[in-house]
Amino acid sequence: MSRKPIIAGNWKMNLLQSEAKELFEGIKSFVNDYTASQLPTVIIAPTFTSLCAVDSVKCNCGCGGNKISVAAQNCHWENSGAYTGEISVAMAKDAGCDYIIIGHSERRQYFSETDEMINKKAKAILAGGLIPIICCGETLEQREAGITDEHIASQIRAALSGISSEDVAKSVIAYEPIWAIGTGKTCDSVEANRVIAMIRNVVKEVAGESAADSIRILYGGSVKPSTIEEQMAQSDIDGALVGGASLKADSFNEIIANTMKVAV
Ligand code: PEP
Repeated sequence: MSRKPIIAGNWKMNLLQSEAKELFEGIKSFVNDYTASQLPTVIIAPTFTSLCAVDSVKCNCGCGGNKISVAAQNCHWENSGAYTGEISVAMAKDAGCDYIIIGHSERRQYFSETDEMINKKAKAILAGGLIPIICCGETLEQREAGITDEHIASQIRAALSGISSEDVAKSVIAYEPIWAIGTGKTCDSVEANRVIAMIRNVVKEVAGESAADSIRILYGGSVKPSTIEEQMAQSDIDGALVGGASLKADSFNEIIANTMKVAV
């Protein structure tokens, strides 16, 4: 089955509104040379305060697709209420988001997010008509202890618990080994592909073959223009969640361009 690749830029807690706007314009002028069907699904995830500085970019060829889609970096699972500092799915949608990143290792590590919270967020996002980008990944200690697969399988089972096969099929998973995030150390492509194929098998167990064939599973961790072609040439890697290299239009656009050489 052919799955449309995704290149998603996670801007994390970076860029003031004017800087976000400038980066957005730099990506927009690149994607505007293509139709949505020539491009991977391009997603940008600014801070909440910069959601108003960017917009999704619709394709003008009549296909109805987007050349750029917008993601929030987090959300709460409740619709509204006394949750100071949080935003709901409806608020992210209202601000123009089609996707929401959840379970990023930085949120698990620094904000004590649990698998149970990530499952509640995934359900709320799907119920609100948006698409979750569910992150998972192992620490260096877990990898060295030989428990990578069991740890990730348990994160995925928990995140997808109680979600219909139809909703699982449209979701996105990002496999991000924690030791590769922001370190410049990319996971070997064959190994990343092996773990992603294992994740796809877990999806098959919990949601069936059709969901496993449809769900897009990304690799994240020090992705650069020089690594993406080899990563995208792997059988099960459907794209990338990019941190550092998404903060400059040149490098992010080059990642998109190199993806198109091998995979769209
Ligand atoms: C990330 O934070 O999701 C990420 C993959 O970051 P980087 O590309 O900088 O490693």
